[in-house]
Amino acid sequence: GRGKHRGMKDTLSVAVEPRLKVLLPLPLAGAYDYRVPRTLSLKIGDFVVVPLNQRDILGVVWDSPTEGESKPVPDHRLRAITAVLPAPPMTESLRRFVDWVAAYTLSPPGAVLRMAMSVPAALEAPTPQAGWVLAGPGGNRQPRITPERQRVLDAMRPGEVQAGGQLAAAARVSLGVLRGMADNGLIRPALLPHPRRFARPDPDHPGPVLGDAQAAAAAALVERVAARAFGVTLLTGVTGSGKTEVYLDAVAECLRQGRQALVLLPEIALSAQWLDRFRARFGVAPALWHSEIGSRTRRDTWRAVAQGEAPVVVGARSALFLPFPDLGLVVVDEEHETAFKQEDGVVYHARDMAVVRARLAKAACVLVSATPSLETLNNAETGRYQALHLPQRHGGATLPAVEMVDLRQAPPERGRFLSPPLIAAVSETIGRGEQAMLFLNRRGYAPLTLCRHCGHRMRCPNCTAWLVEHRAQRRLQCHHCGHAEAPPAECPECGTANSLTAVGPGVERVLEEAIALWPEARRVVMASDTLPGPAAAAAAAQAIQDRAVDLIIGTQIVAKGWHFPHLTLVGVVDADLGLAGGDLRAAERTVQLLHQVAGRAGRAEAPGRVLLQSFSPEHPVMRALVSGDLDAFMREEAAMRRPGHWPPFGRLAALIVSSEDEREAERTARDLGLAAPGGEGVQVLGPAPAPLALLRGRHRRRLLLKTRRDIAVQPVLREWLARVEVPNSVRVQVDVDPVGF
Ligand code: ADP
Ligand code: ZN
Repeated sequence: GRGKHRGMKDTLSVAVEPRLKVLLPLPLAGAYDYRVPRTLSLKIGDFVVVPLNQRDILGVVWDSPTEGESKPVPDHRLRAITAVLPAPPMTESLRRFVDWVAAYTLSPPGAVLRMAMSVPAALEAPTPQAGWVLAGPGGNRQPRITPERQRVLDAMRPGEVQAGGQLAAAARVSLGVLRGMADNGLIRPALLPHPRRFARPDPDHPGPVLGDAQAAAAAALVERVAARAFGVTLLTGVTGSGKTEVYLDAVAECLRQGRQALVLLPEIALSAQWLDRFRARFGVAPALWHSEIGSRTRRDTWRAVAQGEAPVVVGARSALFLPFPDLGLVVVDEEHETAFKQEDGVVYHARDMAVVRARLAKAACVLVSATPSLETLNNAETGRYQALHLPQRHGGATLPAVEMVDLRQAPPERGRFLSPPLIAAVSETIGRGEQAMLFLNRRGYAPLTLCRHCGHRMRCPNCTAWLVEHRAQRRLQCHHCGHAEAPPAECPECGTANSLTAVGPGVERVLEEAIALWPEARRVVMASDTLPGPAAAAAAAQAIQDRAVDLIIGTQIVAKGWHFPHLTLVGVVDADLGLAGGDLRAAERTVQLLHQVAGRAGRAEAPGRVLLQSFSPEHPVMRALVSGDLDAFMREEAAMRRPGHWPPFGRLAALIVSSEDEREAERTARDLGLAAPGGEGVQVLGPAPAPLALLRGRHRRRLLLKTRRDIAVQPVLREWLARVEVPNSVRVQVDVDPVGF
């Protein structure tokens, strides 16, 4: 080939040709090498267009050695970077965050980068209409300075971005001259500052006067933010104690420092009340970031964040990957929520990654909850996190009285789900003109449809799951894969007509019962399928606040942070629901969820009351809810997990082996089992069928790696996976710190 005949001189000049690593937003093993054309002046973190196979793709100039790098490409095979985009380069702290998340979750760094590049459209290709900025001192090239070029240089000031058209006019040159100067590395494209769409919240806008405990906690947080250093604070306090107002003071301090603040909420679609509160405190709305914002807003927000023009962002977990140039505060509200765990693609827990993001950005981190996770409590106990506590409800409101209804003593009527004591309590409450809420964490009409004649159960063809009846839509649905079918007129097994019957309640069925009991009551159902999107949720919340509703029936959506001042009764239809199954955290989660739901009652003057319907009122979870002593409950939980090194006192990772071919899944799982690591403090459980043994048509097996806390699971997992050959038809998903198992 050509290379063979190259002389010494040639080889040398090729060897000094600059090359850079570019990380592509694809699940590849590491960054790829590219040649830097002499015409481009590039910085680490720059967004660049590079050729890959037959197409052009956007990547980021990367600077850290990443896992599994391939052997270097010889110079003559190296392809060149095509262009650099006019966007601020990805910051060092975000690049390190991408690397960190990749290493921790055992994901390809490019797969993580993709989450930080969710808005390629935000990065406009360089056009004459784009802005230009003076290039920094670059390379050893001496481009020719013609008089035309000199006029352009005279018209520019360092760091100032000017629109191409204006610049060309000012220097009396054509746009082509600018392009040529860019090709010669004299100027570079840059994003034009755009009219500010995100008003600057005023930190000194008058907010509510804080109570004594609030003021003390706020002062401690403000000090943390002012320190401009990493540190984690746990802010706890009973429901309704005013934690939000306290951490908004930390946001205010962050604004005074001129840094950006990020607030993560578990259910961003339901953030209407939160936004009202923010506006009341700061006079303007913050930037919003979640999956349902339109692509235009998305692009503007991304750019504004990158240019430091969005001082406060409130968002879902994906907001962690926004390109904040100077992040000073990360708040995770309702830190115990499992909604912070992302289960698809890169499997990560946003609460834990928020702490990492804050550390890398030298920012303060605040975790907020009335019912913190055992992980976080343990970190506070061992002194890793600072802890602040608000002991009382704001404004003299008292905590609701929680009572059990023993369903064995006071059963509902046949085929009904509300017990006589709960019915009486609802009647009294709405009779007084107050609001009542019935909580059942189950969407649809009935969780199971059964043939009365032969006992056949309607199940999903793709998943290990029963089909849930949604009567309003006349459909049977799988809540895992989305499969839906019309309810058959006769049993598909025995052919008997009209023999299929609904078993158990969902919220729709509770609604049906409520209509029969209180036909006059004005009702609203709050569930993810009855409130599709933030606007519907906001409208429902507004109706409740305006007392246009007497009775609220809802799933876990109603548990999340709402403040309904006229709500005084909460009835939990099935308090035992979350306790079934072998999940390590079932008890912890049930306490958290039910305590949160209970906390919706009695948040203003009128006292609140909570009734929990249960078949096991003596269960420790129920006792904790009645006594309100969650600390004692969590101490007992800790005492149960500690001896066996269960999280947070040990580490856990799951391998989910899946394939459309059951035998292949089985075989790979068995091979992994045979190659399992061992030794002091390392244990592998399984393989066993995964909790959903069939999901979306894939057969799933699971192995759990459990290690002592002082042993990192990642190297153990890497070595383990390297020992086993996985066929193409089989997927092995790694889940470090799994939440449901
Ligand atoms: P938590 O998040 O702790 O459950 P919230 O922050 O929702 O509590 O506060 C409960 C209610 O009390 C909200 O309506 C809030 O606006 C109000 N509130 C909290 N602190 C104050 C205060 N210092 N002055 C006036 N209202 C307050
Ligand atoms: Zn299914």
